[in-house]
Amino acid sequence: ITSRVTKPADTSQLADIKNIILVSSGKGGVGKSTVASNLAVTLAADGAKVGLIDADIYGPSVPTMFGLVGAKPSARETAEGKTLILPIEKYGIKLLSLGFFADPDQPVPWRGPMASNAIKQLFNDADWGELDYLIVDLPPGTGDIHITITQSFPIAGAVIVTTPQQVALADTRKGLAMFKMPSINIPVLGVIENMAYFTPEELPDNKYYIFGRDGGKALATAFEVPFLGEIPIVQGITEGGDSGTPIALNKESKTAAAFAEIAGKIA
Ligand code: ADP
Repeated sequence: ITSRVTKPADTSQLADIKNIILVSSGKGGVGKSTVASNLAVTLAADGAKVGLIDADIYGPSVPTMFGLVGAKPSARETAEGKTLILPIEKYGIKLLSLGFFADPDQPVPWRGPMASNAIKQLFNDADWGELDYLIVDLPPGTGDIHITITQSFPIAGAVIVTTPQQVALADTRKGLAMFKMPSINIPVLGVIENMAYFTPEELPDNKYYIFGRDGGKALATAFEVPFLGEIPIVQGITEGGDSGTPIALNKESKTAAAFAEIAGKIA
């Protein structure tokens, strides 16, 4: 990916995408990429045509979560002489990540405009074709990339991932406020509370609210946006993320059912 001299953006590659949905969080480590990946898998398993853009410039995780570390997308020329990046397909999902274009062990000290240009290329210069959903895994917080994406592309809505701790909720409030700002004005599809509780295998009827209880729900109520659901702390979620097999691929799992319920509310 190279930065280019600004010229009017050619967004024709997005013409056949029905819904661009952002997955955001106030801070890192709350499970935003996990939710984005599993929602993509859930929607695709349901028969939808799905793409996923990993726009997390600070720590792209899609290559790891889909078992594609070191993978490099190829490109093709259009009849008009434009070069299009071909998203990598896995589990029926078209994937692009900034991580595919960088050495995973080297930091990429993006300056704002460079990062913004790189992100725009993932949207405008890729062969997305026809999609029902293009899910976008945003960087944490509220920064340049958020402004670029929300102002450059027709966004259907944003989901917000939080954990129940006060520190996470405080940052989530800022994220909610950002989407509601008049200059951004993106519909918030709802709040997902991740790592909501823990249930030990030997005590299947017990829920331990390790990080506090119902914080995400209370926040959704306060901001008058839907509460989409809770995802518990599950070892299989971490393992699935680390091994490149998102847990939602295992349709029999309780966690897959939780993601299916959430996907049903945003689809
Ligand atoms: P973010 O995108 O918000 O930085 P990630 O999705 O990368 O967060 O998640 C951070 C870590 O926590 C990952 O190792 C992931 O597998 C793990 N994780 C996320 N959600 C859960 C969960 N509900 N249960 C167990 N582990 C989780």
